[in-house]
Amino acid sequence: MLELEDALARLLAVLPEPAREQIPLPGACGRVLSEPVSAGTDLPAFDNSAMDGYAVREADVAGANPESPVGLRVIGRVPAGQVFAGELTAGTCVRLFTGSPLPRGADAVVMQEDTRTPAGQPDEVLILESVKPWENIRLQGEDVKRGCVIARTGDILTPARLALLAAAGSGRVHVGRQPVVGLLATGSELKEPGEPLAAGQIYESNRAGLEPLIRQAGGIARVFPLIPDEPAATRSAFEQALGECDLIVTCGGVSVGDMDLVKKAFEEIGGSLEFWKVAIKPGRPFAFGRKGQRFLFGLPGNPVSAFVAFLLLVRPALRRWQGAVEITLPSRPGVLAEPLVNPGTRRHFVRVTMDVAGTVRTSGVQASHILSSFALANGLVEVAPRTTLAVGTAVPVLYWE
Ligand code: AMP
Ligand code: MG
Repeated sequence: MLELEDALARLLAVLPEPAREQIPLPGACGRVLSEPVSAGTDLPAFDNSAMDGYAVREADVAGANPESPVGLRVIGRVPAGQVFAGELTAGTCVRLFTGSPLPRGADAVVMQEDTRTPAGQPDEVLILESVKPWENIRLQGEDVKRGCVIARTGDILTPARLALLAAAGSGRVHVGRQPVVGLLATGSELKEPGEPLAAGQIYESNRAGLEPLIRQAGGIARVFPLIPDEPAATRSAFEQALGECDLIVTCGGVSVGDMDLVKKAFEEIGGSLEFWKVAIKPGRPFAFGRKGQRFLFGLPGNPVSAFVAFLLLVRPALRRWQGAVEITLPSRPGVLAEPLVNPGTRRHFVRVTMDVAGTVRTSGVQASHILSSFALANGLVEVAPRTTLAVGTAVPVLYWE
């Protein structure tokens, strides 16, 4: 049985090099950059006003206060998007708005609230407060300098990164191609949710949870019809899905029972099994296979096993396929409010809830068919074999979207 890291290393080692494509920035959220992006412009692109107010020469208004205001002549008005053609000279000012370019000659902005317009003198303004040099001015390049790297190869495009790239002028980006992921469920007992159940049948539930997880990992999910536990049906379903997809994620049929046909069917259609079984709980009977440049990720059927194996083994592969640097689950620090016990010989990924204060409790019964405790969980805590983590232990809590 492989350790998790060994299994992950082995499957990552055989994945193809990421392929790249160029796409428009809108719609690129979640995609992975395949080359660095440099700023096409300074940010801010020019000195501009942080306030609605008046561009002044700081020295002109040095002594201003409400009792003895300084009068200035208003020589222009510059809405955002326009530029003042002239230059500020002693005793003058220019009306500005947030984002208006700073006129030449000005070195501070007095906010509108600190001014008064004398009655009947629209070209005059009384300055009621002094300002510091460069006060209320957003300086050219103080955020980003033109030409500097603002996002790196392997970065995932988050909403904030997209906004930064847009602000710096990127209209298109080079990103890793998304894998097309076929999602298949095996089991003669399975029925589509919403249909009537006969005795002994259950609703198929894994695809409902795995399909969004595939999308969140950047894959393009193709959901295939249910596969009964019959060799010919399993083979033809695999062949069809492998013909249309870069890789397939199956659930069920990957244990040791007579009805566990996934591994055999994959080999019968020309695939080779790279490994089977990983020393994690839940999720042990995970199988990884390869057929040329197409891949099989065989998840266990038990719902929580399928989820956990997906999060620990498939999600990283989908991310790496696109060239991402960060591929394993992120974690947040938490503190146990109850002990976690793992008497077994495999690492246990325990379903937990962590509150906003970082307090961590199990989310309920941990058996691999118990979905309700998984639905309540917002994280997993790893407990090493034959280990008890006491109350008060600081633990990393793995989480996902
Ligand atoms: P298997 O790995 O096929 O032996 O399945 C293990 C357990 O998970 C059995 O109780 C199956 O009925 C159940 N199971 C398998 N696949 C699914 C699925 N897609 N949705 C819900 N339960 C499943
Ligand atoms: Mg089955």
